[in-house]
Amino acid sequence: MIPYGRQDINQEDIDAVVNVLQSDFLTQGPVVPKFEKTVAHYCGSQYAVTVNSATSALHIACIALGVGKADIVWTTPITFVASANCALYCGATVDFVDIDSCTYNLSVERLSEKLSIAEKRGKLPKVLIPVHLCGQPCDMEAIHSLSQQYGFKIIEDASHAIGGRYKNEPIGNCRYSDITVFSFHPVKIITTGEGGMALTNDEKLAKHMRLLRSHGITSTSDDMHQRPLEELWNYQQIALGYNYRMTEIQAALGLSQMQRLDEFVTKRHDIATRYDQMLSSLPVVTPWQHPDSYSSCHLYVICLKLGEIDKTHREVYEVLRDAGILVNLHYIPVYRQPYYEKMGFVAGYCIEAERYYSEVISIPMHPGLTEAQQNQVVEALKKALL
Ligand SMILES: *Cc1c(COP(=O)(O)O)cnc(C)c1O
Repeated sequence: MIPYGRQDINQEDIDAVVNVLQSDFLTQGPVVPKFEKTVAHYCGSQYAVTVNSATSALHIACIALGVGKADIVWTTPITFVASANCALYCGATVDFVDIDSCTYNLSVERLSEKLSIAEKRGKLPKVLIPVHLCGQPCDMEAIHSLSQQYGFKIIEDASHAIGGRYKNEPIGNCRYSDITVFSFHPVKIITTGEGGMALTNDEKLAKHMRLLRSHGITSTSDDMHQRPLEELWNYQQIALGYNYRMTEIQAALGLSQMQRLDEFVTKRHDIATRYDQMLSSLPVVTPWQHPDSYSSCHLYVICLKLGEIDKTHREVYEVLRDAGILVNLHYIPVYRQPYYEKMGFVAGYCIEAERYYSEVISIPMHPGLTEAQQNQVVEALKKALL
């Protein structure tokens, strides 16, 4: 069995976790802030707030940006459901912007058209959540410029993209966004088991997100409400927050993994280059990379040229799965999920997203993938396609 993605854990990672297990703090100790500092420094952002998943990070990012019941949030349909669900958690309405046919990221042209229509109807989004699909950054400069024109906020869902670069700067520096979110799920670029992080350059947003990840409780006397001295203790709940904290055990793993982040991404690039060459004679389109982009290569998505193949999309998927190649489909358009269809979305809502959905397969891509395994994937693909 060859999975499409998996973690890479070495002895140093294990030692780091064991050290924490033998220390005084399993949670709320010194390692979480150290992990935050390390990631913020790597990315060139001012603040980093670690949480127990990217889903939680997206949720508190939406709250911090003021998303509420009357608001509209836009994202891409080709993403994991969490990119859209975070808005629903806040009671907001979600809508989707169709994708670009080359990068498969949210299309700036479609965004621009949709904004102009939404403005006339008085239904502009409060927040846009572009997703750096497969680790390839969206056209953030153009998106940022539209945000200035129309007055919406931006959360980059960079769950796939730590270690990647946009216009030669690290993804996560928030140059073109309010908040950037990373995921540390085991299939992602670095892992903490479960885990996520929200980065920002805005002190207020960082502070608000820190409050929200821990019940809305503050221990800072300056933030506490005025009370008679005998009623002031060492903590006060001043907002409705959650328990979204990351443990020290997880942060130790993440901190240790950060040391190999560049190595992981380089290895992923080597694998991608080798796939590009080996698949060049097959009836598939390999991932196209925008010149502004240095992808983290989280996923390797191939697009089947179904007109040149005498199998269906489903049949190719099944043949590969039966051969022990655990290919996947990233993603079913979010609005095609039954939960979203119940909200009124219908098949065909985003034309490019639907075409993508009917033709793509993610083949194995992770730093531990050996050349022999990669050959096995390509052989199985040849059998399935030719
Ligand atoms: C994985 C992923 C998430 C959710 O990450 P978790 O850490 O599992 O909550 C959100 N958005 C995208 C695009 C993802 O791939």
